[in-house]
Amino acid sequence: MPKFIFVTGGVVSSVGKGITTASLGRILKSRGISVSIQKLDPYLNVDPGTMSPYQHGEVFVTSDGAETDLDLGHYERFIDEDLSAASSVTSGQVYLSVLERERRGDYLGGTIQQVPHLTNEIKARIYGVASETQCEVLICEVGGTVGDIEGETFIEAIRQIRHEQPRDTCLSVHVTFLPWVGATGELKTKPTQHSVRELRSKGIQPDVILTRSDHPVPREILEKVALFCDVEPRAVIPMETAQTIYEVPIILEERGLGDYVIDRLGLHGTRDLDEWRDMVHRLKHPSGVVEVAVVGKYVELHDAYMSVKESLAHAGIANAVEVDIRWIHAEMLESRPAADVLHGVQGVIVPGGFGERGWEGKLKAAEWARTNGIPYLGLCLGMQVMVTEFARNVCGMDGANSTEIDPESPFPVISLLEEQTGIVAKGGTMRLGGYPCRLTPGSLAGESYATDIVTERHRHRWEFNNLYRERLEAAGLRVSGTSPDGSLVEISEIAGHPFMLGTQFHPELRSRPNRPHPLFREFVRAVVGARRGAPLEVAAG
Ligand code: GLN
Repeated sequence: MPKFIFVTGGVVSSVGKGITTASLGRILKSRGISVSIQKLDPYLNVDPGTMSPYQHGEVFVTSDGAETDLDLGHYERFIDEDLSAASSVTSGQVYLSVLERERRGDYLGGTIQQVPHLTNEIKARIYGVASETQCEVLICEVGGTVGDIEGETFIEAIRQIRHEQPRDTCLSVHVTFLPWVGATGELKTKPTQHSVRELRSKGIQPDVILTRSDHPVPREILEKVALFCDVEPRAVIPMETAQTIYEVPIILEERGLGDYVIDRLGLHGTRDLDEWRDMVHRLKHPSGVVEVAVVGKYVELHDAYMSVKESLAHAGIANAVEVDIRWIHAEMLESRPAADVLHGVQGVIVPGGFGERGWEGKLKAAEWARTNGIPYLGLCLGMQVMVTEFARNVCGMDGANSTEIDPESPFPVISLLEEQTGIVAKGGTMRLGGYPCRLTPGSLAGESYATDIVTERHRHRWEFNNLYRERLEAAGLRVSGTSPDGSLVEISEIAGHPFMLGTQFHPELRSRPNRPHPLFREFVRAVVGARRGAPLEVAAG
């Protein structure tokens, strides 16, 4: 069995518990300790795949095709490891499997209860990931805050694991928030004290308290937290809001978190964040700024495009520039000229999306990028947009469309595959997870990746319609990546354009700060070289 670190939250949510958990993972990994991270989400949805981005931000897809919480994206980016479906557990999954077993009669007439049936199922999933990954340390983050009714079963399962495992193998980290009272100019510890009291009432004494705040935390405040929450003073660690999330591991390591954790868990490994520090230094000291438009549907909610935003930051590091994002509502492009709305941007991204709202606006963005020679990167829906725009405006296929938007289109250049047509259930029924893609040598994609075969993650139903492939290719659309048997178009690009490329998959799910995704890296490289707004004649053929 590995050592376990359980991370809970107190006071309020949205204070960066996910980033803190991911940072702890990076601190341990940098010390040569193998880590894995698991998220325990108390909500009843089986996975976030069916939730609106307004509810829960981006849906992060693992390589084995699970639709998970966006925190898994942070975990992967910070620890630079691929996680699996088992790393994401929701109450919904736990109830579903217990109730399915009950219906099958597996419990032999017993009464099914939260304790022990749900708690046993949760423990089995925690132990399961521990043995599957063979990690030295498993970090489990519980979503929400202590005291939430729906989180109780997870807390109880954790208490039991702490009871079952030898004392020096489990550590409890509680992330709280110190509110600032402007009238008296002080940070208050009372909510933290209450939250720790709540956690103790469930049988868990925290070992480490990380206090989030927007202000520097004076020493006496930390001592007060230590005294009233019964935690060693060196284990109360302040964490003020950082300039960039990637700085958090460095700050926490400097404040002694890594030393304390390995000490308590009896682990070995010396600090080595040099490479990470170098990456953060480059991120904070760019030699220039570029501006890229992200044209989407939920742009007021940046969490919906978390991985896109982070991938651009990673690509910026690689190109020594800061990438400023101009968030643009696709619908705005339906009533105002693209030249006004997009004026001055040096690159355009159309990210993934579902449904009709904003579709025509996205086509306008693609048209503007194509005709002005502005770098364009289309992600999933963004490739479908790029192909549709090209069909309509270059190949003269009037009314060309995706059948997701117009089922009666005379030129359905994006359509459903046979196996997707009859599906009515929404949850988990898309083309999901990693699929291999063969790259065309000499193409923009082939040169960016500098390899022949890649595996990239998908989450969609619609596909490029091969019926139109020849006609589109004859006009200058280049298919630069397909499934190994050639039947599915995975990447397409516009010949003669400095950088106009769309992927049927989501490259943003694989970008890491220390290993930017090649397509994002090359996109930003093209952006750096782009002349603002210069018109371009795209040669056909
Ligand atoms: N709605 C499109 C499809 O299902 C694109 C999905 C996406 O961008 N993730 O094919």
